[in-house]
Amino acid sequence: MLKDNLSKVQKRIQEAASRAGRDVSEITLVAVSKTRPAEDVSQIYECNIRDFGENKVQEILQKSAVLAEDINWHMIGHLQRNKVRDVLKKAMLIHSVDSVRLAEKISEEAVKSGINVDILLEINIAKEESKFGFLAEQAEEALCEIEKLPNIKVLGLMTSAPFTTDPESNRVYFRALKQLLIDLNAKNTHNTTMSYLSMGMTGDFEVAIEEGATHVRVGTAIFGEREYN
Ligand SMILES: *Cc1c(COP(=O)(O)O)cnc(C)c1O
Repeated sequence: MLKDNLSKVQKRIQEAASRAGRDVSEITLVAVSKTRPAEDVSQIYECNIRDFGENKVQEILQKSAVLAEDINWHMIGHLQRNKVRDVLKKAMLIHSVDSVRLAEKISEEAVKSGINVDILLEINIAKEESKFGFLAEQAEEALCEIEKLPNIKVLGLMTSAPFTTDPESNRVYFRALKQLLIDLNAKNTHNTTMSYLSMGMTGDFEVAIEEGATHVRVGTAIFGEREYN
């Protein structure tokens, strides 16, 4: 059943890419397995998916301990500074860097461990009170600060658009995030060019792909409704 869900999502990704004249290989599906047992992750892994997203460090640690080593774990949730050391050992990309202080901590731990860490800056593109992330107008200053830090590389931007039943209503936000990436790259005096755009979830990933997403984070459409207890 999960496999059927995955096939449907992959087909929709393919179709959205075609509509936008994009090659589907530019788009990474991050299967968001938060709250799901390791067995569910295994089922999707067997379908050749290697990228999985979690929003809690604890869940990455628990699942990575029992699952295949070649899984790419993506940290997509708000990250506390005291959890940074643990997550760095396991996550291949941290999507949710939402403060300069957090980036400083990541850099500090990365230096201690002698590793380089790839991150995205989380942008609160719709200025929602309930969401973490930099406001678009804070992004340039934050990027300047973060780029000075050792052992950390900003590969791009991430956002969670507002919850909606009408995905078209989020098109404006996805377009704005893409434009922000272009503007920051144009101003960038450093040698890194950001190319990742992590945007689009179950409700709106097709619109996000049409607007340039390179990473879509899809949970419910693959694993079903989540039950929190
Ligand atoms: C849970 C979550 C997702 C996946 O949401 P779905 O609507 O289940 O696809 C994507 N991104 C973040 C940051 C999340 O926390």
